[in-house]
Amino acid sequence: MSETRNVWVFVEQDEGKFADVSLELMSKGRELADELGSELWAVLPGSGVGELASELVGRGADRVLLAEHAELRQYRTLPYARVLSGLVKERKPYIFLFGASCVGRDLAPRVASAVRSGLTADCTDLQIGDFESTREKKSYKDLLLQIRPAFGGNLIATIVNPNHRPQMATVREGVMRQRPADPSRKGTIEKVSCSFESGDFALEVLSRELRASTVMLKEAPVIVSGGMGVGDADGFALVRELAAAMGGEVGASRAAVDAGLISKEHQVGQTGTTVRPRLYVAAGISGAIQHRAGMAESSKIIAVNTDPDAPIFQIAHYRILGDLAEVLPLLTAALREKAK
Ligand code: FAD
Repeated sequence: MSETRNVWVFVEQDEGKFADVSLELMSKGRELADELGSELWAVLPGSGVGELASELVGRGADRVLLAEHAELRQYRTLPYARVLSGLVKERKPYIFLFGASCVGRDLAPRVASAVRSGLTADCTDLQIGDFESTREKKSYKDLLLQIRPAFGGNLIATIVNPNHRPQMATVREGVMRQRPADPSRKGTIEKVSCSFESGDFALEVLSRELRASTVMLKEAPVIVSGGMGVGDADGFALVRELAAAMGGEVGASRAAVDAGLISKEHQVGQTGTTVRPRLYVAAGISGAIQHRAGMAESSKIIAVNTDPDAPIFQIAHYRILGDLAEVLPLLTAALREKAK
């Protein structure tokens, strides 16, 4: 089959539930395919997941490649990589996108290596654009511009893969917006056959233990985050109290996490969770670019800081110049009073 300009999205599901990042990528993939005048294909491996395939059509897929097999019930690197790389070699997509989830980070490099293409990890934006290679003295049209922070977030790099196909990227969870499903959309669901080699089953899953996270940062409409300005683990009590009074979740800067003031699952930012709440309170957080990368799109930002030049004030809608040990209890008390 000759090369197409189709955009593919690997759709991750666990026990019949889509990973959010896959639905986010379906929306982005649809945009990219429209811009290229091509098709969006969803690749859905699993077992007993046929019903999910039609939902993917509503999510923008022109075609769903449904790879159903008992061996694909639970994610394992080698069987999944075997199926996906086989499909890529046979159908030759132009672009192939994965979520930068634990599964996507594990699977995408395997597939990229098997099909001898490149991979840009952890993108925060994707666009279609042209590229002028000064080295090759050649111009390329309609490439995938793979955009991501680099050098500790001090640069935003745009990476292209002009010579190998597919152009592959993993994309951070929570940065692309999910479009609502359109149940009236029409598309094709194609069952594809899966073949494996004995070495693909070197790993056997004997049992599975699920530990639900108690921190729900991604969905929280209100987040109160603390940074190094909080001082110590006890200082976080003020942050927790304000979050509770606001009915919100507790977030943190990486410095606060690294200092052991709070656990990693609370971390907001480039290497933590990307959030977009209605209200984000940053208490004792300087606002380094890596922190802002994960919260700058919050609808309203309140910053509490003793330093008038703290970078967080540049993006805050409400700036409170003061000691959080004084400001947070006042806010908490006012909210509690109002709730009476
Ligand atoms: P600081 O920068 O030390 O700031 C503390 C702030 O508290 C200061 O502005 C100070 O004025 C204020 N303050 C002090 N006392 C008080 C008080 N009593 N009341 C009010 N304000 C007070 N960081 C993240 O947050 N998330 C990430 O995901 C992340 N990823 C990173 C990835 C890489 C590759 C790298 C290199 C860095 C990353 N960082 C990340 C770290 C980031 O660069 C900063 O170091 C970090 O965000 C700083 O945390 P902070 O604001 O809590 O601490």
